[in-house]
Amino acid sequence: MQRLENKIALVTGAGQGIGQAMATQFAREGAEVYIADLDETNARTASEQIAEAGGSAHPLVADVTNPDDVAAMYEQIKSKSGHLNILVNNAGIHIRTDFRHADDETVDKVFDVNLRGVIRCAREGFDLLRASENGCIINLSSIMAENHVRQLSIYATTKGGVSSLSRALALEYAPYNIRVNYLLPGFIDTELTKRFTKNPVISKELIDRTPLRRFGTPDDVAKAALYLASDDAAFITGMGLTVDGGVSITV
Ligand code: NAP
Repeated sequence: MQRLENKIALVTGAGQGIGQAMATQFAREGAEVYIADLDETNARTASEQIAEAGGSAHPLVADVTNPDDVAAMYEQIKSKSGHLNILVNNAGIHIRTDFRHADDETVDKVFDVNLRGVIRCAREGFDLLRASENGCIINLSSIMAENHVRQLSIYATTKGGVSSLSRALALEYAPYNIRVNYLLPGFIDTELTKRFTKNPVISKELIDRTPLRRFGTPDDVAKAALYLASDDAAFITGMGLTVDGGVSITV
């Protein structure tokens, strides 16, 4: 028995990185997966790779900051599948800047994707999640919601919002048997972090600070997401799961 058999899943920003790894992991465990991304080629390629491995996936082009795209995304899922069991709000961007130089345009951009995008997808997806009678949402927060480095204050603020929203939503959606949890990854090797992971000096410093002495992989996060998405976590809601090799426990 696969852990996500008969489940319908949607992962935003799943064309690459952590989102792609989660979509792949879910499909491997039997879920039918919708891969939403800004980039059509990445969404298509990720879906094709899942299909080649024997899984079921559909590419969707959707910008989570665009209400029409989000409505169209859910319309497609409704017409093909009728309901949704698992929504992963993964799409996110990273902007590094000194706080005093963060102009309104930059702040709006990061808030639009990382926080308003999560709010929009969680709100607009409610009817389909409720229709499944066994739904769950997994939001991608970050250890930066609680532990800070310089120049990431705007990003950190959005992730603090994602953690807080997840707990608040867990309460609101519980009567409909929709669980809401969140992941707090540490330093994971993806496009988003390549400025650090590919820089030998910064990379060594980050690995030295990490008790398990390596960067995380997208699969490390995907395995945690699989647990939260599965019925093994049926009594877990409003919780954050940190996936960081121990970096957030150090001083
Ligand atoms: P990534 O490799 O940059 O992938 C992010 C994906 O989201 C990309 O495919 C990107 O598409 C897509 N995306 C960006 N804006 C979008 C939008 N408006 N609508 C739809 N899709 C959009 O990043 P990642 O490292 O996998 O991160 C995934 C999530 O984990 C993010 O929320 C991030 O904040 C969180 N996280 C990552 C780390 C880490 O160390 N990597 C740590 C903590 C938390 P394009 O490539 O076309 O822009």
